[in-house]
Amino acid sequence: MKYFSTRDKNNAVSASAAIAQGLASDGGLFVPETIPAVTLSEIGELCKADYRERAVAIMGRYLDEFTQDELRGFVREAYADNYDCAEIAPTRFLDDSSGVLELWHGPTCAFKDMALQMLPRLLTASLKKLGEKRRVCILVATSGDTGKAALEGFADVEGTSIVVFYPRDGVSDVQKLQMTTQRGKNVFVSAVEGNFDDAQTGVKQIFSDRGFADKLEEKGVFLSSANSINWGRLLPQIVYYFSAYCDCVNGGKLSLGDKLDFCVPTGNFGDILAGWYAKKMGLPVRKLICASNSNNVLTDFINTGVYDRNREFFTTISPSMDILISSNLERLLFMCSDDASVKGWMAELKTSGRYDVGAKVLSEIKADFLSGCATDDEAKACIGKLFKDTGYLMDTHTADAYAVLARMRSEGESFPSVIVSTASPYKFADSVLDALGEGGKELGSALIEKLEAVTGTKAPKPLTGLDGREVRFTGCTSKEEMADVVMEFIGK
Ligand SMILES: *Cc1c(COP(=O)(O)O)cnc(C)c1O
Repeated sequence: MKYFSTRDKNNAVSASAAIAQGLASDGGLFVPETIPAVTLSEIGELCKADYRERAVAIMGRYLDEFTQDELRGFVREAYADNYDCAEIAPTRFLDDSSGVLELWHGPTCAFKDMALQMLPRLLTASLKKLGEKRRVCILVATSGDTGKAALEGFADVEGTSIVVFYPRDGVSDVQKLQMTTQRGKNVFVSAVEGNFDDAQTGVKQIFSDRGFADKLEEKGVFLSSANSINWGRLLPQIVYYFSAYCDCVNGGKLSLGDKLDFCVPTGNFGDILAGWYAKKMGLPVRKLICASNSNNVLTDFINTGVYDRNREFFTTISPSMDILISSNLERLLFMCSDDASVKGWMAELKTSGRYDVGAKVLSEIKADFLSGCATDDEAKACIGKLFKDTGYLMDTHTADAYAVLARMRSEGESFPSVIVSTASPYKFADSVLDALGEGGKELGSALIEKLEAVTGTKAPKPLTGLDGREVRFTGCTSKEEMADVVMEFIGK
């Protein structure tokens, strides 16, 4: 199967090249030329399989260059005892029509692990297939969770190095500690002055800087991305939509073939787009509900067809969704229109910060998506109420989705739904404690211990003992100096 750029259909490459490059040379994102179909009876077979077998079956549809045995090997390593539960991504049921898909049982306690434990395996195998001799430097802009998950995935992986930039004032205390204490010889972490969009823009600038690429080339290094613009990030995420559907069938909540909604806390539009691919492959999904926090650029877009980033930026309690430029939307736009239109809209986004996709594309999007947003206060109220009523504790991002779904249901939109839960509540312990009326001044490990004491739940192991680890990275850079920081690290 070929992959081509959202900005030029003639720019087509193999799966391994798409994964190795991350971003197409024209600035577009790689998309598969066709969407493989999965039948209901095949989904019935997946119901009998475990998570790893489901992953091999779904990912294999898009990766014909890789043998089933190769894929089995990747999956065996990516989803193993680095996860703290055997189901890998379990679905918990709150009641007969509401499930929670927990995607945070991996080593960094956020859903990014689902893809970033897999990506290094796909990437190094792709480089081998391509006969690539150069080292790859993975460049990451993170709103918090991607950075740690990518560091954990790539630490000490042969033939790779990784540089992560996070917004100085835009990540939680636990997230920051997780990154600045990262182990590994091939890793580097730096704060950036500004918000996530500043960090992401800086990284994109480095990617499009030919002179910079030439200088790296002299050192035998090339750049690639572990952000969700990389197809190798998106692909492993399609699996868990199938898996959750199977869990609903196995749990007696759905009959095979019944439709299901997914409500997804959304930032860069990667997670929910994977759900859209699952739907287009044939998974019985009715609607994908795109949930935002106060940075509700996507809510407005899905309602009006106008994407407008010219608005106030809010720092919220769900920082991984504090994003005004959702990169993966470009893939959806391409699937609903064509390369020339996408190129035009992306150019408008760059110059005026705004584009309008028109009525036809909007109606296609609306056929698959609903949208809504939640304020911090609404999310906190939901965390408190759900815990009080049921003992189920959720994080702030999941709570945005929960709040959006609850509002839709109160307005009469009632359908069996799975809420995609993207982080352990312990990762955002400060805000979760606040939501439970137990906010205080604690930091680091004290926060984690307090949340354990207040809720009688147990913190995931990777989040305990953070304070005791050596902080290795203390630097902060301006957006303009990011390229120099990368070069200095590579030069070492
Ligand atoms: C990254 C992240 C999101 C947003 O996912 P996108 O794929 O960027 O839409 C939501 N919640 C958490 C906890 C995340 O880490």
